[in-house]
Amino acid sequence: MVSNHNSLQVILGAPGLRGKTLTALPKDGLTSLIQSIIFNKQDLKEPFYVLDLGVVASLMDQWTRTLPTVRPFYAVKCNPNPAFLGVLAALGSSFDCASRAEIETVLSLGVSPDRIVYANPCKAESHIKYAASVGVNLTTFDSKEEIVKIRKYHPNCDLLIRVKSPDDGGARCPLGPKYGALPEEIAPLLQAAQTAGLTVSGISFHIGSGATESGAYKAAIAAAKGVFDVASQLGMPEMHVLNIGGGFTAGPQFDDAATAVKSAIQEYFKEPGLTFIAEPGRFFAESAFTLATNIIGKRVRGELREYWINDGVYGSMNCILYDHATVNATPFACTSNRENPRCGGARTYCSTVFGPTCDALDTVLTGHQLPELQVNDWLVFPNMGAYTAAAGSNFNGFNTSAITTHLTYSTNAS
Ligand SMILES: *Cc1c(COP(=O)(O)O)cnc(C)c1O
Repeated sequence: MVSNHNSLQVILGAPGLRGKTLTALPKDGLTSLIQSIIFNKQDLKEPFYVLDLGVVASLMDQWTRTLPTVRPFYAVKCNPNPAFLGVLAALGSSFDCASRAEIETVLSLGVSPDRIVYANPCKAESHIKYAASVGVNLTTFDSKEEIVKIRKYHPNCDLLIRVKSPDDGGARCPLGPKYGALPEEIAPLLQAAQTAGLTVSGISFHIGSGATESGAYKAAIAAAKGVFDVASQLGMPEMHVLNIGGGFTAGPQFDDAATAVKSAIQEYFKEPGLTFIAEPGRFFAESAFTLATNIIGKRVRGELREYWINDGVYGSMNCILYDHATVNATPFACTSNRENPRCGGARTYCSTVFGPTCDALDTVLTGHQLPELQVNDWLVFPNMGAYTAAAGSNFNGFNTSAITTHLTYSTNAS
């Protein structure tokens, strides 16, 4: 939540917000805002997002207070919504980009290239050339082949060696199977970079997205210290950048992770002059976005209620498949129960919620208790900002990227 006048001014001045309508969140919260969006536009049936920029400001505040020495580079792939990126930029975030298009998007917000880490260990040659042409001069690698390409197309780029995290932290989406040098590969890779005349300025890792065990940060930071030592033993220039990646989730889990990170940095990286960076995605995006979907179909089978909504697994709810997420729906009976749209006190039924496409896999919820709803009522899904719209498709003619985002800001001090 925007806790002071200053952060509201910052939000209002953010790149990408010019000409956009920004509504203060009513005192009684998001539900009443969503209700007014629906009631004010009688023919509104399309799904829509509500982005609470006050939540973004509050999360940035929390990051800065809790991990003041670790500079956040927001991972654009998690949610590239332009207003969201603009507000993060205005709040002082830097960015983790993984492709030419992501770099272009971030630069178009007026962010300078030294606030970008090109954190993709395996890049197309044309994208490396582009990074060189715009002055994005920090990237990751975990193979000799990557060194060859960078030497050829961007020899002035500083490198971070991406190492495989020793522990995946119970992550929902481990990244170790795809990226990161193995312990025995580290010295040969560092040597190869040095022979190629490239500068390895530090190390990066990712303990996995949606990690639940903060001990994984400690293990990875301890291993990173070992890599710094190997570089020294090889007579390379001293490394000075430690990139601890993503994996953070907002809430009490963040405090645990931050405590683990701080104590490991204290223990292994005491010397002055070091730069600590992180690449949080989910932390900033997840709780800032709420999705409202319209009920477009219904079937009753005995006690079971089945509903069809106009977004699903091929759209925003791809997170169920790719991000191993569970989603949660609250009813909004705006049409059938206008007096009591939240259906307080109503009897509930075991319900199934399907997405709109003609694939049985497109099932959003099963065994979910919901009151009796009708076609044209709504279902609202909180915490839908991370790995949702970013990876949706146009399958079967349902276009995820066309979903509108309404902007709001909450102002109650948190
Ligand atoms: C996806 C990704 C992130 C963001 O991860 P979260 O778990 O969402 O914080 C950060 N860094 C890299 C290299 C990534 O691939």
